[in-house]
Amino acid sequence: MRDGVEQSYPDHPRPKLTYPFDDPPKVGGDVREVAPGVKWLRMPLGGALGFINVWAIEDFCENGGDAAWAIVDTGMGGTATRDAWRAAFQGALAGRGVSRVFVTHMHPDHIGMAGYLTRKFDAKLWITRLEFVTCRSLAADTGREAPADAMRFFKAAGWDEDALDIYKARFGGFGRGLHALPDSFHRLNDGDEIEIGGRIWRVVVGSGHSPEHACLYCPELKLMISGDQVLPKISSNVSVFPTEPDGDPLTDWLTSLARIKGKIPDDVLVLPAHNDPFHGLHARIDHLISGHERGLERLLKLIAEPKRVTDVFHVLFRRVIDQNLLGLATGESLAHLNCLIARGQATRTRDANGVDWYQARA
Ligand SMILES: [Zn+2]
Repeated sequence: MRDGVEQSYPDHPRPKLTYPFDDPPKVGGDVREVAPGVKWLRMPLGGALGFINVWAIEDFCENGGDAAWAIVDTGMGGTATRDAWRAAFQGALAGRGVSRVFVTHMHPDHIGMAGYLTRKFDAKLWITRLEFVTCRSLAADTGREAPADAMRFFKAAGWDEDALDIYKARFGGFGRGLHALPDSFHRLNDGDEIEIGGRIWRVVVGSGHSPEHACLYCPELKLMISGDQVLPKISSNVSVFPTEPDGDPLTDWLTSLARIKGKIPDDVLVLPAHNDPFHGLHARIDHLISGHERGLERLLKLIAEPKRVTDVFHVLFRRVIDQNLLGLATGESLAHLNCLIARGQATRTRDANGVDWYQARA
């Protein structure tokens, strides 16, 4: 048993979660069974995360009823993940094809290889409509120039010329993490009950990390595949992006978490996309919500005097924000600031240089 204690504020300790598996699968084709007919695999990821958890559930093909795998999440597009899937299908998953490919949400580490798997096995992509459509629209930015709206957005956040130049040079990276997307999909809706391998799995949608993120909950097995909606040791990225500068994803996020707590009982084993499977869903949700609320309180105090977005990082993040983290920190800080504005607690004023200043309402 291991318990995460890292990176918490001393006055806001992490709840005690339990992790029933001491021996996770190795990244690549290795497999562990987490419940009858439900397998856990890890696909390679660059960067600090290292891997993404994906899941294979025993299922039957729609045509002919042959035994097959329903896959949930697919890994980042590219040859490393392709090799890992090949190893899995030559090893622990051998002997069955793929019935369908579920994707929790549109981020490249989740949907990246959906096109590869659906084409290789002649299977359909099952995903919510907003995730599919948003993914296609973001992928279409690859190869485009950074739009003026985006430059204005980051300038307003207080970025200097160097940071803006780097953004411009890197723009359009989203599509590079994707194998060619499937051209059609089967729509998942909140509340859908889907039979997979003879058991019912319920779709529970959340929003804030991505627009229409699907979790899958199986009451019979007491399992919840949580994607990035609930992670045991990482607070999921909730950001405002240049496409919707006035958006309030943090309110969506907090509302979603509370709703999930009401829809999914506490006794599930949570299968997250990062870190390890864990027990303690409700305590984790409470901790995530209170962590954001505390961040909002610190932020509100700080903006008693007017501040730019780039002036507020230190009250929301306990680490140095370098160029690589600047976009993420800006998006998350804006999510908190826009939430304060939506609650009527703060105002935003643009100065003559096009930079926004935030201040608490008196
Ligand atoms: Zn994600």
